[in-house]
Amino acid sequence: CGIVGYVGPKQAESVVVEGLRRLEYRGYDSAGVALVVDGTIASEKRAGKIANLDKALADTPLPEATTGIGHTRWATHGAPNDQNAHPHLGQDGRVALVHNGIIENFAALRAELEAAGHELRSETDTEIAAHLLEAAVAGGDDLTTAMQSVCRRLEGAFTLVAVDAQDPDRVVAARRNSPLVVGVGEGENFLASDVAAFIEHTREALELGQDQVVTITREGVGVTDFDGNEAQATPYHVDWDL
Ligand code: GLU
Repeated sequence: CGIVGYVGPKQAESVVVEGLRRLEYRGYDSAGVALVVDGTIASEKRAGKIANLDKALADTPLPEATTGIGHTRWATHGAPNDQNAHPHLGQDGRVALVHNGIIENFAALRAELEAAGHELRSETDTEIAAHLLEAAVAGGDDLTTAMQSVCRRLEGAFTLVAVDAQDPDRVVAARRNSPLVVGVGEGENFLASDVAAFIEHTREALELGQDQVVTITREGVGVTDFDGNEAQATPYHVDWDL
């Protein structure tokens, strides 16, 4: 239901979790975070309030990281439990992904992945996208190209945000019929389902169009369509107060 992504010099865990807290008003049943740490993904997710995630992170702290993604879930496919909470990982735990919305054709894609030997660990419509994305980067695509090709296979409404453990300074997102905005900072950039998630860090935002993929690094923002053609996002200044 809420999504946050961050790359920059700050501690990603606190930026992401505080961002999720700013989205709490939207309602949710689970929360989770994934960080890129030395070529691996470190992740924690819990059913229930963000306080449950806070407690898990306090009991077993994740390593420090400056790239991360987070999610508050409003379950549509699969019970609201720890296993179905986002982020979801690909088969080998290299890619982590969060999703708002519904992937309508997940059952066919799940059957295809299982036939190819993938083991799905949740009941969500989301997890197939993590496996497909990881398979594409393992095959040599960068995360942006992988996101474009995966989105071309998905039907439904989705905001997706993903990280690749082997590409630590990049966060990639996509949207179709589901909200996604970019927060443009100085030496840091943000992705979120709502500007409330990053407004304490920057008021410069980019609104994405339909069927777009956006890549953020510390220094830049790149936008394409699902075919990889460069695309335009609309800059705006957030001048209201929370
Ligand atoms: N359909 C996904 C799920 O059930 C995402 C739900 C959401 O938008 O939070 O896990």
